[in-house]
Amino acid sequence: MSINIEKTKRLSQLPPYLFTQLNREKEKLKEKGWDLIDFGVGDPDLPTPLPIVNRIIKACQNPKNHRYPSYEGLISFREAVSKWYQRRFGVTLDPQREVITLIGSKEGIAHICLGLLNPGDIALIPDPAYPVYKAGVIFAGGKPFYLPLREENGFLPVLDTIPEHIARSSKIIWINYPNNPTAATATVEFFHQVIDFAQKFNLIICHDLAYSEISFDGYQPPSLLQIKEGKEVGIEFHSLSKSFNMTGWRIGFAVGNTKIIQILREVKTNVDSGVFQAIQEAGIEALQMDGKATREIKKIYQRRRDILVDGLRKLGWKVNPPQATFYVWVKVPEKKSSLKFTLELLIKYGIVVTPGVGFGPSGEGYIRIALTVEEEKIKEAIQRLKK
Ligand SMILES: *Cc1c(COP(=O)(O)O)cnc(C)c1O
Repeated sequence: MSINIEKTKRLSQLPPYLFTQLNREKEKLKEKGWDLIDFGVGDPDLPTPLPIVNRIIKACQNPKNHRYPSYEGLISFREAVSKWYQRRFGVTLDPQREVITLIGSKEGIAHICLGLLNPGDIALIPDPAYPVYKAGVIFAGGKPFYLPLREENGFLPVLDTIPEHIARSSKIIWINYPNNPTAATATVEFFHQVIDFAQKFNLIICHDLAYSEISFDGYQPPSLLQIKEGKEVGIEFHSLSKSFNMTGWRIGFAVGNTKIIQILREVKTNVDSGVFQAIQEAGIEALQMDGKATREIKKIYQRRRDILVDGLRKLGWKVNPPQATFYVWVKVPEKKSSLKFTLELLIKYGIVVTPGVGFGPSGEGYIRIALTVEEEKIKEAIQRLKK
């Protein structure tokens, strides 16, 4: 006799992972033999730069790397992070106490809430957003309070519209610039505002900076820690996934406030055993290559962006070219729902995009197009839309 197996309320509170649902639909059409052009998932199509691949091959041959890694990450990796931060942002970090290696930034983003939120505590989360902020808060028993990101505000949250009693009972505010899915960017002045707000209401700032190295036209996204007080109130999550085409490798890091890093380390010590050292060695290679690796990657996305934006504009769509990230956030033409429009693109044209509503209710009326598709395919997509 089988037993009654039910998932928890906590798990039931989460919608099915957006991309799981989308993948299922795509698979169905693929099985029917459709030639889909897939702008859906934010996963670089380009390979990891060769020196990084060569470095892991060597590192794998060293038996020292076959054992359990340290929880907080190789000190050599954390030193490489610290040097990269100094070069890239002019920020000094103590590799021992202000840097921690992550199994991809998603892991740290999900786990930090277990260390910072008590059941019932509120976390301020942008809407639309990367779905993991919400998942982390729910898993920790916390309560999300959503900050709508609207076009008229440059897709930045308007902090003075947050009710004071909510701000007072909140523990965390999540921000993410350059932003997924809206591709919006933020200025250092905006970070100043968030820091003032955090200090006023005793909030921790968690800044997701996964797209710091994907930017165009000479624009350089700033770090929260460039502001002196940044380190007093927050941490920043980074990923090698997007910067160096390493999504499959699972390596990222968090930096910032010593106490918060220590809390994250404590959570991780109880649930994982760190990142394979050979991957961390490859990560060192990536951070040392820095611009040598990212320059070419940025150029490719920039060309793709221009082809897509020009093409869509010629079709009469209103599109703003993003300054960063590999996403184009597009207002749905006419007054259709984002889901209806997404399905139309899929079924009529074999074009896969992500409906904005999948990132939260304020994403309604938009679709996200990922530039993780080669130029020829982008041109073909435009051709298909012309017909
Ligand atoms: C891709 C992405 C991440 C996660 O990257 P990892 O592969 O887990 O390092 C984090 N935040 C945002 C906004 C992303 O788009």
